[in-house]
Amino acid sequence: EHSLTPQAVADAERWTAHNYHPLPVVIASAEGAWVTDIDGRRYLDCLAGYSSLNFGHRHPTLVAAAHAQLDRLTLTSRAFIHDQFAEFCHRLADLCGKDLVLPMNTGAEAVETGIKVARKWGYQVKGVARDQANIVVAADNFHGRTTTIISFSTDEDARADFGPYTPGFTIVPYGDLAALRDAITENTVAVLLEPIQGEAGVLVPPADYLPGVRELCTTNKVLYISDEIQSGLGRTGKTFAVEHEGVVPDMYLLGKALGGGIIPVSAVAANADVLGVLKPGQHGSTFGGNPLACAVATEVIKLLETGEFQNRATELGERLHTGLAKLIGSGVTEIRGRGLWAGVDIDPARMTGREASKKLMERGLLAKDTHGSTIRLAPPLVITADEIDWTLEQFAAIL
Ligand code: PLP
Repeated sequence: EHSLTPQAVADAERWTAHNYHPLPVVIASAEGAWVTDIDGRRYLDCLAGYSSLNFGHRHPTLVAAAHAQLDRLTLTSRAFIHDQFAEFCHRLADLCGKDLVLPMNTGAEAVETGIKVARKWGYQVKGVARDQANIVVAADNFHGRTTTIISFSTDEDARADFGPYTPGFTIVPYGDLAALRDAITENTVAVLLEPIQGEAGVLVPPADYLPGVRELCTTNKVLYISDEIQSGLGRTGKTFAVEHEGVVPDMYLLGKALGGGIIPVSAVAANADVLGVLKPGQHGSTFGGNPLACAVATEVIKLLETGEFQNRATELGERLHTGLAKLIGSGVTEIRGRGLWAGVDIDPARMTGREASKKLMERGLLAKDTHGSTIRLAPPLVITADEIDWTLEQFAAIL
């Protein structure tokens, strides 16, 4: 039968800049954990929009909230207050256990906001000398694509030929407390870390790392900023990945799943002594905290308040990791992760990560390689136990 896919792939390639190398699948519709392509083939979505679809595609509650809001009010800008704003901010602040919330749109914007707030806090509260503020970050980080953020990336693809770079960042090895201790100076205003490094291949740090980071930050009057944009909102079995180590950061950066897979919503949450440094005119976003975003994100927070998705991630994550562990030695060299999030290292002697994800695609499973031969699995948290078992079978089959 005639397939529409090759032409649609060619058309997409023809009219876009090639800053991505997508798998050759053209998706037309989706529901829950499954997507359907333009030829009517179904795939289990084990990437879930890089963890933006934690609640699955088109979760009925989220879609209903979006529809209802579309019929009432979609945009005001922050020049005026709208009736969805306070509830969203209040609920998110409570979810984070913080005083205040600052809504933006994309993850990178939340990171930029965190950097700006930390610098201003450094000058106004900590007393750092003008333009001397420094932020410590980890090697192999991924925090987004803006010029400032890629300035402290260690990934040459992300960085090369985009200079001149923004100064004011020190890079230390991830998971190394001694290196972090040495890097902190009187000018350090913040430590910015992913609690689990997603793009780097779902790297989980040693158990004493994040508590040690917390202690170093407290001792040295440094803000601990946790980038939970990919790790947060249920993915690892907790609302925030830092909870696994009982750690509370000074600032949460959130995005991705906060918008329910419907609209970009990101946010910074922190206490008043931190976010309070911003005064009118000093930061903003035309679309940040818009009515449609707030209406959807409020329902996202309500879903998280039940704990149901966190529990699913814990229970089904155990099933996923137990099953993946059985593949070690037969084509898989290592697995890492937590909850419904896994980095699976395919033996490079067998195939590349790209080849593995293509083979999985042919079997009806969508997943994407990160670096080299690592496949990242991050299915929607609505995935079932049977679908996890089926996923494991597809892995076994391609190996
Ligand atoms: N921070 C982390 C940990 C991420 O994983 C990402 C995206 O993958 C970002 C920030 C950037 O988010 P966005 O692509 O929405 O700008």
